[in-house]
Amino acid sequence: MSNVLVVADHRRGELRDVSFELLTAGRQVADATGGDLHAAVVSGDVEEFGDQLNREGVDAVHTVANGEEFNHDVYVQATEALAADVDAEFIVLPNSVNGLDYAPAVANRLDRPYVSDVIDAAYDGGVLEATREMYGSKVETTVEVADGPFVVSIRPGEWPAAEGVGDASVEAADVDIDDSQVRSTVTGFEEVGGGDVDIADAEFLVSIGRGIEEEENLELIEALVEATGATMSSSRPIVDNGWLPKNRQVGQSGKQVTPKVYLAIGISGAVQHVAGMKNAETIIAINTDPNAPIFDIADYGIVGDLFDVVPALIEEFGGD
Ligand code: FAD
Repeated sequence: MSNVLVVADHRRGELRDVSFELLTAGRQVADATGGDLHAAVVSGDVEEFGDQLNREGVDAVHTVANGEEFNHDVYVQATEALAADVDAEFIVLPNSVNGLDYAPAVANRLDRPYVSDVIDAAYDGGVLEATREMYGSKVETTVEVADGPFVVSIRPGEWPAAEGVGDASVEAADVDIDDSQVRSTVTGFEEVGGGDVDIADAEFLVSIGRGIEEEENLELIEALVEATGATMSSSRPIVDNGWLPKNRQVGQSGKQVTPKVYLAIGISGAVQHVAGMKNAETIIAINTDPNAPIFDIADYGIVGDLFDVVPALIEEFGGD
């Protein structure tokens, strides 16, 4: 029997979607090992978060109240202590900005093997098989790790979120953080350009690429965004040109998005872009080139000039 510990991710007072995906991934491993699934939340509004994490399949929820925001040293100490407390064979963390910050440190402190950015996992006969992508998502590889205990971080958007209300105990963990070992303090946040839009949370993304040609032409896409109630995102060249802020970039060096609808306009579908949006529920592409790779993954495709197609869409959606 091998227990599983997952540690939730939160930001600005809300649990992030990946927290509930962690519960599903953790349950999957716990089922394979016959162990219990322990969910933990560190800092922030831990009481409310604790209740929210009490979903079907969770055996126990542990809360660690220490400050409001993510802090590397606090998370490392808390995760290490919790792992010992619940006798965790597996520590499953998010491959998010926060998770990537402290997961390697946890593995290092515990002297455990670490597999990052995992998109699928199986456990059989004491061997962990973790699938991850390599070379800009060109290939998938399966990593076998024979010597547990294990630390893995899972890619957001790869597991469904756990649902339903569970009947786990939600309790404050008996964890003491040694403040003398906490070397940094979060003093505040400053928005980068783009306001507080998080394209990772959007349900309908209208994404624009180099096919737009000129910055002035973005007005056309803004009109479509307004007519449809969508959120605008882009490929990297648009951000590199300074036409949209960095937080709108989808892809390997941008954000991973999983909207219900992803409308790619004038985007070729380079692997680095596709790495960020291939898990969208429905992908629609508009491109003049019928051989553009984006059509290989699109559910619907329009071979056409965006300067003809987008005005027609705006009219259809009742825009000006
Ligand atoms: P292009 O590849 O130039 O494609 C433009 C498309 O528009 C073409 O298919 C063309 O047929 C079509 N088009 C032209 N005119 C029209 C028209 N009038 N109507 C309709 N269609 C038209 N890219 C990302 O997007 N995100 C990343 O995170 C990212 N990270 C990277 C990381 C690394 C390490 C590297 C090396 C590259 C990365 N890139 C990333 C860049 C990536 O390789 C591509 O260069 C980029 O995605 C191309 O953007 P695009 O599709 O907008 O432009």
